[in-house]
Amino acid sequence: MVEKNRLPRELTHPVSVGGVIMGGGAPVSVQSMCTTDTADADATLAQIGRLAAAGCEIIRVAVPSAAVLDGFERVCAESPLPVVADIHFDHRLAIEACRRGASALRVNPGNIGSWERVDAVIDEAGAAGIPIRIGVNAGSLDAAFAEREDLTQVEKLVGSASSFVEHFRTRGFNDIVLSAKAHGVLTTIEVNRALSRELPDVPLHVGVTEAGTARQGTVKNAAAVGALLMEGIGDTMRLSLTADPVEEVDVAWDLLSAVGLRRLRPELVSCPTCGRCQWDLMGVAAEVERRLSSVRAPITVAVMGCVVNGPGEAAGADIGLAGGRGQALLFAGGSPLRKVSEADAVDELFAEIERRFG
Ligand code: SF4
Repeated sequence: MVEKNRLPRELTHPVSVGGVIMGGGAPVSVQSMCTTDTADADATLAQIGRLAAAGCEIIRVAVPSAAVLDGFERVCAESPLPVVADIHFDHRLAIEACRRGASALRVNPGNIGSWERVDAVIDEAGAAGIPIRIGVNAGSLDAAFAEREDLTQVEKLVGSASSFVEHFRTRGFNDIVLSAKAHGVLTTIEVNRALSRELPDVPLHVGVTEAGTARQGTVKNAAAVGALLMEGIGDTMRLSLTADPVEEVDVAWDLLSAVGLRRLRPELVSCPTCGRCQWDLMGVAAEVERRLSSVRAPITVAVMGCVVNGPGEAAGADIGLAGGRGQALLFAGGSPLRKVSEADAVDELFAEIERRFG
């Protein structure tokens, strides 16, 4: 895995979620959330296994009622990833999740009911030695900010988040990760910029919430989270999509790769084709992308429509193909290797990848 922190990053207080560090200059971690019924531990563990294989590093599961606690306990015991308990409304579930093996809690103090109940959760997490993600969104603002007509939505989110953090710290609890989420791109960017200014030492969990289905959600998350990451804001991310959560993880890694922060898998460079293209580049690119999904080397692979611009434009790629009529040029590091037939081109490419990077 290639990991770079070459972009400026806020120096946040490092927090460990089951051994995965958030903040303090640690690589931005990738999270997702199970869509299964937590009571069904077999199904939940199976989904966690698929997510872990895709590169997920922390998993969150819903704890909506006491009926799921036995399943939750087994998931915590057998999960290959640290498990975060997602709690709303009922502080007793948060307390019980601490006792059943959670690696962290995610609570929205604004919907727990009272400070006494929030304090009971803080104290239990402290006793268990696990961090808490404080979640804030439009529906769970601090009551002192929720009704203020003189404040913008961003100011309400930031004010609520800041007052929650202050309360936790006053209680002596510092292992905090903060998220303030919205479904709009600009609001997400503005809120997190403000939080990174006002609470520069608190690790931020970033992502667009309720971002939509795979295509729209990917675009919104790429716009918002991509902008934040390039400003050095964000210590862990969950890109919510109305889709298989494995897609969230794939998109998160593609985004980290695109902004140059972390590379786990190959990156595919392919041209849009034009009138010079004389081979089935779209079919070749789709096939190469499919077969690259099982390659773990963080290499750059190019498939280009023609030799006129192809090898030159893709000179930065580790290896690639530039198509011609019935044949293609296999190249590596900007230099030609050999001509291959169009029919054998993809097989030849993967044989060379295996030889060089396998
Ligand atoms: S690489 Fe060739 S086919 Fe692809 S866009 Fe450039 S000129 Fe057109």
